[in-house]
Amino acid sequence: MTIAATSGENRTESGLVVGVDVGGTKVAAGVVDVTGAIVASVRRPTPTHEPAEVADTIDAAVAELRAAVGPESVRAVGIGAAGWIDRERSHVLFAPNLAWRNEPLRDEVSARTGLPVVVENDANAMAWGEYRFGAGRGHDDLVCVTVGTGIGGGIVLGGRLYRGRFGIGGEIGHMQLVAGGHLCGCGNRGCFEQYGSGRALVRTARELVSTSPAAGRRLLESADGDVTRLTGPAITAAAQEGDPLAVKCFEEIGSWLGRGLASLAAILDPGRFVVGGGVAEADDLLLGPARAEFRNSLSGRAYRPEADIVVAELGPPAGIIGAADLARH
Ligand SMILES: [Zn+2]
Repeated sequence: MTIAATSGENRTESGLVVGVDVGGTKVAAGVVDVTGAIVASVRRPTPTHEPAEVADTIDAAVAELRAAVGPESVRAVGIGAAGWIDRERSHVLFAPNLAWRNEPLRDEVSARTGLPVVVENDANAMAWGEYRFGAGRGHDDLVCVTVGTGIGGGIVLGGRLYRGRFGIGGEIGHMQLVAGGHLCGCGNRGCFEQYGSGRALVRTARELVSTSPAAGRRLLESADGDVTRLTGPAITAAAQEGDPLAVKCFEEIGSWLGRGLASLAAILDPGRFVVGGGVAEADDLLLGPARAEFRNSLSGRAYRPEADIVVAELGPPAGIIGAADLARH
């Protein structure tokens, strides 16, 4: 566990809120001030088997942060969790990588900390963070896309986070793009995240290296000669050095990403797409092909204003910052 206190010049005594990002492997928490700055942070491994242990871990992280900034100055806790959250923002209905099944997380954490608690889906929290303090500032109609192993999404419409009737809207990674396509972890086939994500990047690279070993030599070397050990960061590094096969992999998943965003534009007509997550660190290697295919696939192209597609600004802390801001309001 680490604790880091950073600059707190802008904070006001009454304006501090703790944001917590609960993922499948780690619980990351930070004290966030009114400007969206993280003034202290902590992280712990996620206990994945017992729901009560997750609440205990969140409570311990909050207690440590309160000790660091002054117990009386923290007003609320916002939690971004990797799961489906109900409309009341109190229960985690389902979390594929955690033990939560209809878990009353809000009340569990509120009882432990004695603070008001808001629970939100992690991708929604990231979208809200980017909208308030990052690349989405000033765009009241915004879609935030997180391209990691899978694809997450958060939608802001008219300056409000769109949750849907049951609280579980915005799962854009599971819109079906390819009839009878690759099997997805959700049980369906052909989902967006099977084509435009980090998982798809690695799958594409493995296929191309296996079919053209000469062209794939650089990538194969990065995996010690074993194609099954090829990783996303290694493919990104090779592409950034100009390796043609690695660049081709990004063109492939980037164009799928652009196609998916064009479908979303047809439905939602946002002014901006913000693309974050680990794979987006490749920046224009991913977004260049995505923008090109977006323009190609957009319905009524050339007769309508086009949304722009930009890379996220806040990085991994977006979820902490967004969850805290949602709890503040
Ligand atoms: Zn799916």
